[in-house]
Amino acid sequence: MTLPIVAVVGRPNVGKSTFVNRIAEADEAIVHEMRGVTRDRSYHEADWNGVHFTLVDTGGIEMGTDDAFQGSIRSQAFAATREADLIVFLVDGKTGINADDEEVARILRKSDKPIMLAVNKMDTPNKVDEMWEFYQLGLGDPWPVSAMHGNGTGDMLDQLVEELRALPEKEVGGEPLDAINVAIIGRPNAGKSSLTNTMTENDRSIVSDVAGTTRDAIDTTIEHDGRYYTIVDTAGLRRKSQIDEDVEYYGFVRAMRAIDRADVALLVIDASIGLTDQDQRVAGFAAERGCAMVIVLNKWDLIEGPDAKAEIRERIADRMSFVGYAPVISIQATTGKRVNRIWDAVDTAYANFSQGIPTSKLNTWLQGIRDFGHTISQGKKMLKMKYVTQTAVRPPQFTFFVNHPEIVDDNYERYLENRLRDSFDLVGTPIKLKFKRKD
Ligand code: GDP
Ligand code: GDP
Repeated sequence: MTLPIVAVVGRPNVGKSTFVNRIAEADEAIVHEMRGVTRDRSYHEADWNGVHFTLVDTGGIEMGTDDAFQGSIRSQAFAATREADLIVFLVDGKTGINADDEEVARILRKSDKPIMLAVNKMDTPNKVDEMWEFYQLGLGDPWPVSAMHGNGTGDMLDQLVEELRALPEKEVGGEPLDAINVAIIGRPNAGKSSLTNTMTENDRSIVSDVAGTTRDAIDTTIEHDGRYYTIVDTAGLRRKSQIDEDVEYYGFVRAMRAIDRADVALLVIDASIGLTDQDQRVAGFAAERGCAMVIVLNKWDLIEGPDAKAEIRERIADRMSFVGYAPVISIQATTGKRVNRIWDAVDTAYANFSQGIPTSKLNTWLQGIRDFGHTISQGKKMLKMKYVTQTAVRPPQFTFFVNHPEIVDDNYERYLENRLRDSFDLVGTPIKLKFKRKD
């Protein structure tokens, strides 16, 4: 779901911004801009030979005293080794190597991320044999480039995308900033914008999206209680342009796109209207995509009396049973009352969505299922489950090794799912079950 991240590091003035601007898809292709935190950096979309990646310019380091500078260049390098999938270390071919470069190289050598050393400002080809100096950084072959004129950048990018292609599947937890992607979805007028506003108003908004042409959700990354969340608001700030189009339909399309990028979907339902078909469809889509989910019953202030409230809750439980794992929280988005419960529910759903349950615990559980004796058979075939292990996260997937995978039906799958939910913390997350043959 997320693009590989390429971080460009190097001391001030080596040409990082020039380099990034040459490679990024457009000068203004700044996707995220981070302010107010210790490190300033910008995120850009880039594409070479059909390989898309996010390019991070760690450029905006402010120089203070020498010490502060040393500290910041170090933290910049450390941050890159944590956050990036590949690091481009840019040095200045005109001035040569200095102590700061050596310090960065030392940090980078310790990381297990692929690193490419680019020697910038090599504007004239005849200077290329001066490269020997840069081998002493211990980062392999230096790539001579001129970010300003473009010399050498093509060859280097060819190699860069080769390395990106060779990366293992983007690993879990590799999101920029490790933010939890939360999509706020629901019908027009359900209160998505109000909820987004209340959720974000007391928090520092650190990253916000610049309107892109292909994107139609506005992302806001905020820090709440020490964690990062990217709120993908689908309310559609660009509704203007769609005035003549079918708002419901485009709302749905937007929701689907947001869900594709989300870890947790917050489905906002207007309690004063009640559950609609579209709410069910969107929920079904999120479940299919394997998003964690929290259901928010908004405009709760408009519902009068315990009977009416109970009725709505029952109706949700009944008609949304296919996402029965999603907690249902009633709120009033406009006041922010009880909005904290949403944060808790999102955290819990995300934790459960990302967890790995040890195989030993799963097999103790499986022994309990076997002891209970509820199995299925078809003709002469009787299902025997030998072993179970978790084979994926986000969402959790469990693979059962059984003698006859072909006879496992939906009912039995549901039975196993419910028993897993009884025994493990799986609130808020869908799970997937797989059955493989093992005789
Ligand atoms: P940053 O601080 O690392 O982001 O560096 P900048 O991209 O702002 O560049 C610093 C200076 O180096 C600017 O004056 C650039 O014009 C210049 N510069 C960048 N790349 C090249 C290059 O390939 N050749 C030459 N001659 N100058 C360059
Ligand atoms: P969106 O289209 O889903 O983004 O919905 P909005 O956030 O724009 O809200 C639609 C309307 O519902 C606005 O007039 C809000 O003031 C109102 N609204 C939102 N949340 C609540 C709520 O909890 N209670 C009440 N009474 N009105 C609400």
